Amino acid sequence: MNPADDIPLSALQHWLFCPRQYALIHIERIWAENRFTAEGRVLHERADSGKSEARPGIKTLRTVEIRSAKHGLSGVADVVELRGGTPYPVEYKRGKPKKHQADEVQLCAQALCLEEMFNCAISEGALFYGKTRRRTIVCIDAALRKMTLQAAADVRACRDQGDLPAPIYSATLCDNCSLFEQCRPKQIGAQRNIEKWMARALNTQGVPA
Ligand code: SF4
Repeated sequence: MNPADDIPLSALQHWLFCPRQYALIHIERIWAENRFTAEGRVLHERADSGKSEARPGIKTLRTVEIRSAKHGLSGVADVVELRGGTPYPVEYKRGKPKKHQADEVQLCAQALCLEEMFNCAISEGALFYGKTRRRTIVCIDAALRKMTLQAAADVRACRDQGDLPAPIYSATLCDNCSLFEQCRPKQIGAQRNIEKWMARALNTQGVPA
């Protein structure tokens, strides 16, 4: 695949959090920071600022540019540990393990890139969460690989279509989203409901909507 057509690894995570958030960031090029994104940025900067280091049997590389030509994915891995020459991705995330699997999918996409670059098989990686200060081990299994490739296909389809997904207000997601002001999920949702109501009302009266 042409590198210019690559899906950024971060796009998969944004897509699984909310498709509209993905489109606002990666298609409309809108960005805003809130407490959560600032915490995430600081955590990444700390992970990236460490030097490459070696422990017995493990060489740690930081801020590693990675790409899979086969899957059309590319981005930067926070930390890649080389264990006997086999890469082991470690992604830094703010907060704690989440209910959704967006973080796991981003890690799996890194593994797909590293497998292609190192011509190897990767069965495991880790997510390091800023709140718990612990690693969560992630098994790069068939189900996670399938979910990751599906997310990449969905992102590509959305990008090629160029449509901005409509907002669906969710307190859990939207109230923590840095793009809440730009997205206006409540206002646009209400407007869409009115439009649907009017279309239904016109249909009921026999007027083509
Ligand atoms: S405010 Fe809600 S609907 Fe809008 S981008 Fe954020 S999470 Fe998605």
